[in-house]
Amino acid sequence: MTRPTTPTVSNVDIFTQAYKRRTFAVISHPDAGKSTLTEALLLHAHAIDRAGAVHGKAGRRGTVSDWMAMEQARGISVTSAAIQFEYRDTMINLVDTPGHADFSEDTFRVLSAVDAAVMLVDASKGLEPQTMKLFEVCRQHGLPVITVINKWDRPGKSALDLMDEIQDRTGLVPTPLTWPVGFAGEFHGVLDRQSPGFVRFTRTPGGATAAIEARTTATAATAELGQDWTNAAEESALLHAEGHDHDEALFLRATTTPVLFCAAVLNFGVHQLLDALVEFAPPALARADITGRQRPVNGDFSGFVFKVQSGMNASHRDHVAFVRVCSGMFHRGMVLTQASTGRPFATKYAQQMFGRERTMAEQAWPGDIVGLINAASLRVGDSLYDSEPVEYPPLPVFAPEYFRALSPADTSKHKQFRRGIDQLDHEGVIQVMRSDLRGDQAPVLGAVGPMQFDVVEERMTHDFGAGIRMETLPYQIARRTDRASAGRLDSLRQVEVLTRSDDTLLALFSTPWRFQAVAREFPDIVLENLSPSV
Ligand code: GDP
Repeated sequence: MTRPTTPTVSNVDIFTQAYKRRTFAVISHPDAGKSTLTEALLLHAHAIDRAGAVHGKAGRRGTVSDWMAMEQARGISVTSAAIQFEYRDTMINLVDTPGHADFSEDTFRVLSAVDAAVMLVDASKGLEPQTMKLFEVCRQHGLPVITVINKWDRPGKSALDLMDEIQDRTGLVPTPLTWPVGFAGEFHGVLDRQSPGFVRFTRTPGGATAAIEARTTATAATAELGQDWTNAAEESALLHAEGHDHDEALFLRATTTPVLFCAAVLNFGVHQLLDALVEFAPPALARADITGRQRPVNGDFSGFVFKVQSGMNASHRDHVAFVRVCSGMFHRGMVLTQASTGRPFATKYAQQMFGRERTMAEQAWPGDIVGLINAASLRVGDSLYDSEPVEYPPLPVFAPEYFRALSPADTSKHKQFRRGIDQLDHEGVIQVMRSDLRGDQAPVLGAVGPMQFDVVEERMTHDFGAGIRMETLPYQIARRTDRASAGRLDSLRQVEVLTRSDDTLLALFSTPWRFQAVAREFPDIVLENLSPSV
């Protein structure tokens, strides 16, 4: 195969492009306002001109097809995995973490493909379970986190209480960049703690266009708002006295978290988030390979697959591998090498992910996300490179919380059944566990979200021609154990030990209480947390 000629590009060009990138994901519990915030970000960055295209006033959820339609209308780059838009000369890549209904391992894996996270918190609810789970993965990756307190237009907790909650539950020291003027439900604007002054927000009809912002001095704010301003100023002074000021180095080390207050639905405070991303969030930087060596961003092309999407329709083309570009320039038509097999992978179909009509980015740079089509041979965690070999560390495997026993609906199809399960395991769609007791043809599937089972059912039936039966198993919690402990655990009630295909021994427990009781009764038995552990 002849390699297409690489467009000439200098190391400086690549570095400049990498430096312009901000690649992040929003982590939030369902209903905290992620879709609303996403749309508000696009609105403020002028990537769309009216809110409501994706997130209707009736609360209609945005869907991939809405995004695709929007992409065609607005010419912004959208895939089902990432949205790219420009703001203040910076290229922002917002990588999607699928919401509640489709919570799965993909949601966690996305966090290995980003350089920062925005933790979106509902002002009345505080930190919710799903946010905490995702946050735990951020912590394990050492990702810098910007916290956004949303829905400040509604009654909620006090701002200081929320700061305590963040510090107590995440261990991050909150360093507010803005501070709300007016309690939750009375959102006049924010005190800007970076360049002191008051930013007043004024609603636009239906919140459909960017809120009007006006900046005034502290003196004018006191005259206008009286006690509300004085309270905000006093609380901000208290935060300062206690060391809660932004410190870039500590933020990048994931020790502190800058905090912003907003009302995404009214477009209040959204500008400030974009500015914070540009000014404080890290650009695409050198990444460590499996040996710990840093691969500079301005070297030869490299990237890794963090998500594979398959079987959404019957077409063969419909195996899409989403690649995070780590170094060098990607250009459509490149023939890359798949590190795990040494095989070539032609990228000629890469552009199709970006919509039919628009001029698709023919190139991508460090920090960008590329959807490679026809990628049946690629799997989650695979590294790809142009000429200088590199292998990035494997993506972490997460603690399953849902378990199903699987069997073929038609035993004569056992070959298709086996092939299908192996392939789905290989792609990272589901975790596959077995035990001698259950036998080879009766694996147990483990997932972090129930939707993963729907994908298995769909793909087993349509891609592999092997109908399946699934039986829900009464386990809720998994811990890593070792051979010596396995025999003892297996003899206990409401506990089962299985071997995952990566050879990890997993002990499954019916309830967290059962797990605690066993751990207490047998302190010498090995029961380790799997990631994330919250
Ligand atoms: P997601 O599930 O995190 O994507 O949340 P959505 O963006 O769908 O928002 C959930 C609900 O909260 C919707 O009814 C939104 O209109 C509402 N919402 C989002 N942001 C705000 C806000 O700033 N203030 C108020 N009052 N409601 C909001």
